[in-house]
Amino acid sequence: MKLKICHLYPDLLNLYGDRGNLITLERRCYWRGIECEIEPISIGQSFRHDAYDIVFMGGGQDHEQNLLFNDLFEHKGPQLRQAVESDVVFLCVCGGYQLLGHYYEEQNGERAEGLGIIDFHTKAEPGRIIGDIVAESDFLRSQQLDPILVGFENHAGRTWLGSGVQPLARVVKGGGNNGSDSTEGVIYRHTIGTYMHGSFLPKNPAMADWMISTALQRQGQNLQKLPEIDDELAENARKYIQTCK
Ligand code: GLN
Repeated sequence: MKLKICHLYPDLLNLYGDRGNLITLERRCYWRGIECEIEPISIGQSFRHDAYDIVFMGGGQDHEQNLLFNDLFEHKGPQLRQAVESDVVFLCVCGGYQLLGHYYEEQNGERAEGLGIIDFHTKAEPGRIIGDIVAESDFLRSQQLDPILVGFENHAGRTWLGSGVQPLARVVKGGGNNGSDSTEGVIYRHTIGTYMHGSFLPKNPAMADWMISTALQRQGQNLQKLPEIDDELAENARKYIQTCK
């Protein structure tokens, strides 16, 4: 078995160790004998909707987000939309998540168009939302997986989901999408958006394994359940973050 993973804009969207998400996917595949090929794609490089099993886009400062908007919107947008709608597995963190919506409006009022793949928008406000975050995911519970998600968030953007758009989780501690409606992230088809840096996947092994197994099942692999991995370290980190005030 082999998974092809696209790392979008690794040179620009690379805040807070988000590369750790790719290391986690690669390691959790390796420990199970699943081959994993990671391809970096940045500005000026073409993206094909049918070339990958998993796509990852990390977080970035407003400046770096602005540098890639044109390339994303003009050149990669239609193929990315086609990939999302054909159930490719996506993980988009913070800035990468914000780009999936209708627009990102900076504090100076300047608005950059997003891909509009999912019905939400983001407006930056004074006072960043920064700190550890704990959330509970009805989606993961529906997959018979551990529903608790933990991470670290740092964003000025406040994301407002359109009616009928499913949040990834409900905030237990922290800010989440906007610090007021208790939603965190989004899930649409096989696309996960989240504000959780940290990195996200090392601290949430159930989410990593959902991505791997979903991508393999989409390939048509007859997969009952991924072989177990000893996640004691991750579980200890998760317990610690949940006890923090
Ligand atoms: N620039 C965006 C914001 O501040 C995203 C930041 C990030 O990716 N951590 O909301």
